[in-house]
Amino acid sequence: MPKNYCGTMETYRLMIEQSGRKIAQAGDNVWMLAPVPDTTSLAKVAAASKSCTACPLYKNATQTVFGEGPKHATMMLLGEQPGDYEDVAGKPFVGPAGKILNRALEESGIDRAEVYVTNAVKHFKWEPRGKRRIHQKPSSRDIAACRPWLEAELRLVEPHLLVCLGSTAGQAVFGPAFRVTKERGKVLESPFGKKAVATVHPSSLLRQPNEESREREYKLFVADLRVAVKAAK
Ligand code: SF4
Repeated sequence: MPKNYCGTMETYRLMIEQSGRKIAQAGDNVWMLAPVPDTTSLAKVAAASKSCTACPLYKNATQTVFGEGPKHATMMLLGEQPGDYEDVAGKPFVGPAGKILNRALEESGIDRAEVYVTNAVKHFKWEPRGKRRIHQKPSSRDIAACRPWLEAELRLVEPHLLVCLGSTAGQAVFGPAFRVTKERGKVLESPFGKKAVATVHPSSLLRQPNEESREREYKLFVADLRVAVKAAK
């Protein structure tokens, strides 16, 4: 329920239901779900996402960053949320983490033009620090509100394999108990009925304390992507 709403949870729920919007509920929390249109057109779903206001994240972001790639890609890469660069460009994985991802994809034999790339949350969540916009991790509520867009992408793209990049992507697919550190590099059965492989988010490589650990983590990242290449066949 919004902080400034004065009615009961039940009246808030009725209010949303009467507006025709879908809701999700966890305990005492009720919130709107992203309004995905009933269509088989991925382009129409992407266009509808541009005006999504289902959660407050749209207010401070430049634009919705929907997924992109071939409609029937064999592999779907799922990240956390757009970052500063992606928010401005309107495209996923175009900033520094995207550059590492591109290099690792190439090294593991994956053509980025042939995979569908998206995020669990479609708006950039950040907080100001001086003149900079600092990334904030999306909450489970943000992920739940945005989940219908991801479900639509999975339904319409129908990838053979989902690659979860980082803990938020893993938790968006497998639930809050999912731990990338424990499950990375394994071929898993996802609740969406697709095979999945989890690995770290490429931005974690940028946060390594030195060149040596960055190189070590990069090699592990490429090894996980090679598992994904085999599993996607
Ligand atoms: S983050 Fe997702 S649910 Fe929230 S406003 Fe953006 S597109 Fe809609």
